[in-house]
Amino acid sequence: MTKTRRNFIKTAGLGAIGATLIGCSEEITDGVIQAHVIGPKPSDSTLPKIISTWSHGYSANAEAVKKLKNGGTILDAVEAGVKDSESDPENQSVGLGGLPDRDGHVTLDACIMDHNSKCGAVSFLQHIENPIAVARKVMEETPHVMLSGKGALEFALDNGFEKTNLLTAKSKTAWEEWKLKSEYQPIINRENHDTIGMLGIDSEGRLAGACTTSGLAYKMHGRVGDSPIIGAGLFIDGDVGAACATGVGEAVIRISGSAIVVELMRSGATPEEACKEAVERIMRKHEDLTGMQVGFLALDKFGNSGGYSIYAGFNYAEATLDRNEMVSANYFKEW
Ligand code: ASP
Repeated sequence: MTKTRRNFIKTAGLGAIGATLIGCSEEITDGVIQAHVIGPKPSDSTLPKIISTWSHGYSANAEAVKKLKNGGTILDAVEAGVKDSESDPENQSVGLGGLPDRDGHVTLDACIMDHNSKCGAVSFLQHIENPIAVARKVMEETPHVMLSGKGALEFALDNGFEKTNLLTAKSKTAWEEWKLKSEYQPIINRENHDTIGMLGIDSEGRLAGACTTSGLAYKMHGRVGDSPIIGAGLFIDGDVGAACATGVGEAVIRISGSAIVVELMRSGATPEEACKEAVERIMRKHEDLTGMQVGFLALDKFGNSGGYSIYAGFNYAEATLDRNEMVSANYFKEW
């Protein structure tokens, strides 16, 4: 027996999105109270849908869509999609060709998550071109969520991954030039080439996401950012939606960024409103925002999507089975 116990709508409590209608209902199904979120209504979004950060998301989306068309699951699709960026030697912020830390080591962070909250991650992983595939193996073949450093590398090698020299001549030259002054500035590239975060929803409404990066260029050796941290760089709740982050990872971790975006959607915010509120929260907590770019992307369980960033220039690629296009996110500040 199912009956509605309570319906209510209120308009408070979400700061910048305080005017957004928040609806909740609870149903009793066979004696168990089931809470449902009445967030944004189902859109006319065509499913499946894939969104991913920055301009490299465009070709990553194409790979993800190809995987879906060949019968892959949405989890297969996001893994295949971000691998495209990881394996591109011209991309200096992800996988092969990533800019190294200040000691010249390319160290990689990645995580993957599905609609059932299954997740896997690797951090501070060296010598492996596709950390996202190792993260998926951690998820599927270990009792753990994250492996790090030497242990992650040993696990990868045990599972058939091969060692690769990730420091390309181009990135080595850039590092050598940086060393002349050795000034560390965690400024996210304005030309749109940073971490790739990808979120996908299949035609049944199942969500999946992946996030992978070589992290901030010239970071301290051993530094791990937000990208492999479930709840910071990526978060999915199959009942609500998915979110991912790019930008200065320390700022994202401080507010559990992607988890916050999903929780804001649970409370009724649209994907763009949720991203905007999370960005604003970061801005409120940092006195000096010089050069500090952060952007969030979100996808709700109906396929509505949106993004928001601190500074201008954050864009993302949005694809369905027959369309792939770049979208410029709204933002708070000009550079
Ligand atoms: N979020 C990444 C990190 O802090 C960097 C990026 O998005 O470019 O490692």
